[in-house]
Amino acid sequence: MASILLKDVTIADERKDVFIDKGRIEKIRPSGSCVDWDIAGDCEVYNCSGKVAIPGFINMHTHAGMSLMRGIGEDMLFHDWLSKIWKIEANFDHEYVYWAAKVACLEMIRTGTTTFNDQYWFFQSCQKAAAETGIRPAVGYDIIDHGDPEEAKRQMEQCEQKYEEVADLWDKEGSIYELAFHAIYSVSEPMMIWASDFARKHDIPLHIHLCETQKEVEDCKAAHGGLTPVEYLESLGILGPELLAAHCLWLSEHDIELLAKYGVHCIHNINSNTKLSSGYRFLYNELRDAGVNICIGTDGCASSNNLDILEAMKTSALFQKAWRGDPKALPLPELLDMATVNGAKALRLNSGRLVEGALADISLVETDSTYFLSPGPFLANLVYSAHSDCIVSVIAGGRFVMRDREIPGEKEVLHEARKVLSQIKTL
Ligand SMILES: [Zn+2]
Repeated sequence: MASILLKDVTIADERKDVFIDKGRIEKIRPSGSCVDWDIAGDCEVYNCSGKVAIPGFINMHTHAGMSLMRGIGEDMLFHDWLSKIWKIEANFDHEYVYWAAKVACLEMIRTGTTTFNDQYWFFQSCQKAAAETGIRPAVGYDIIDHGDPEEAKRQMEQCEQKYEEVADLWDKEGSIYELAFHAIYSVSEPMMIWASDFARKHDIPLHIHLCETQKEVEDCKAAHGGLTPVEYLESLGILGPELLAAHCLWLSEHDIELLAKYGVHCIHNINSNTKLSSGYRFLYNELRDAGVNICIGTDGCASSNNLDILEAMKTSALFQKAWRGDPKALPLPELLDMATVNGAKALRLNSGRLVEGALADISLVETDSTYFLSPGPFLANLVYSAHSDCIVSVIAGGRFVMRDREIPGEKEVLHEARKVLSQIKTL
């Protein structure tokens, strides 16, 4: 892997030279320092004058395989939408998911994401697509048995077998292996307990949907003696720091205490939640004040329609300010943490910060545009004014995955993905 020298790049309003080697940020020094650096071997020099470096985003909840399903489930309530999606997905295979995931990776790169936490069938296709494009997936076997004991048994066996098969492909900083189960209403109790034990035994994350709709909470209370989904998972011994819980939208005070007590990581997905009218009163302040690590995700394109973290950041902040009637709600530095370091913490990665020793996951923002022509702070202009097309170059794990808006192989991916579109039989 060639090393990279970012010359005269702006980081937190200061101009710096940055040396990247073996996938990590080796040196960050004042601009001009690099003339004295003795850089041996192959080094790519990139002039960053006028560009600002930000940490690569970490999209903590996606379904990359859904990237070709935009617009086919509009104006529908969550549970109607989900049963429609499941019927369509029954027709998918490895080939389909591979090209859909490739498209998702292209879009994530364009919008500055360098790590994503995925949940989908045919996870090896997603891992392959991400590895080829150069961004880092957290992905693994996805469990959903719909309460069928035979199906549960089959999936347990397959999960064990897949884990052995893929063990060599995974390394902590390239691809992160995890286990997923869909949700408490689509997975049987023994299967959820088995999955939790499996994740703990192998020391891997467990990625789930939790408290996404009011119906999920009400159904759970009715079925389990008044327990909320969070209380129900606690009763099964499933809450723990390996749990990556997407949505967490309908929570009681006691739920928040439990999520904090067990170190569960919560992932906010505002665009998906609002579009499916699942809700918008995400209890950010309450979760944060309880000490819960809060991350951000887009969710899949069948509900959020794109994978643009910058857009999700803006919408998250706007909704917090609006429903709380408090303009100070979800301030910019916390919003940036949700999209970077908090995700890194959940996945146990040394990423999400531009510091020496961290993984070189970096986006470069072009500021020569109307959006940045202001004396206001860069972060405000980035989140509230600009669009993600201001991101011109992206480095993931020390490699350029987009350079001056060029992503290698992009045309071929779009061409091949068009061919598998016919597998989507809209109902
Ligand atoms: Zn989801």
